[in-house]
Amino acid sequence: MPDYKTTIGNVEIASLSDGRLRFAPSDFFPDVEADLWEPYREDLTPQGDILMNMGCFLLRSDGKTVLVDTGLGLKSYDLDALETGLLPDVFRAKGINPDDVDIVMITHLHRDHVGWNFTPDGDGWRPTFPKAKYCVPNADWRLFTRRAGMERFAYIQEQVIPLQELGLLELMDGEQTLTSELTALPTPGHTPGHTSLLISSKGEKGIIMGDASHVPAQAQETHWSPRADSKPEQSAETRRELMDRIEKDDALLISGHYPAPGFGRLVRLEGRRYWQALG
Ligand SMILES: [Zn+2]
Repeated sequence: MPDYKTTIGNVEIASLSDGRLRFAPSDFFPDVEADLWEPYREDLTPQGDILMNMGCFLLRSDGKTVLVDTGLGLKSYDLDALETGLLPDVFRAKGINPDDVDIVMITHLHRDHVGWNFTPDGDGWRPTFPKAKYCVPNADWRLFTRRAGMERFAYIQEQVIPLQELGLLELMDGEQTLTSELTALPTPGHTPGHTSLLISSKGEKGIIMGDASHVPAQAQETHWSPRADSKPEQSAETRRELMDRIEKDDALLISGHYPAPGFGRLVRLEGRRYWQALG
């Protein structure tokens, strides 16, 4: 089992899973014919399903503790969740205190990335990371808060809007420096404000992709855009640019939805680009 922790220069990164979801490839990628999956059989279960980790990442950089995304939380909605809502238990098991988190960076406002912004507390909710500022992409804030009244987006009312009332919200526009080693980078397409995290320390690099990619096959098949993408063509362009950049820089490709812990490198094999998990 690969280690759940790694380093990029001086930056420490821990991969913390909130659970796993199961999808049929034809539901998740409706435009991808079944036979195109053949070179990527290893991405699927023996039954032919995608098992998707819901990974969050805890980073230590410049004396700050930064959490990227907060998982699906306690409600699995209509999704096929093998397990969900594990994040607080994982924090406890690893001896991490939620009070130590200084920054929560939300890659985008889909429900599987904001599920533990708040924790149920009696009849109400309390911030899970009470000392943190929550950095949210402004373009997503504008779009999703408009939708908050719709049933499908009720989680926005619960997990996102109270951030503003409590003074915990910081909106991100454009590139944003979180620490001297961490930069939030707009990577739109999956959602309008979708944001990835660049890590650069002592000549080493890494990128936490967010949902710019969901399965390792997209390292090669950058044009595979899932149903969930708001702008599939823009998402494919963003994904191609990110994958090319990661390959050129020999950066670590870090993904919360790839198999846990989600740390790997891009390698070329017989003309195809593969994501190879760290051993
Ligand atoms: Zn996601």
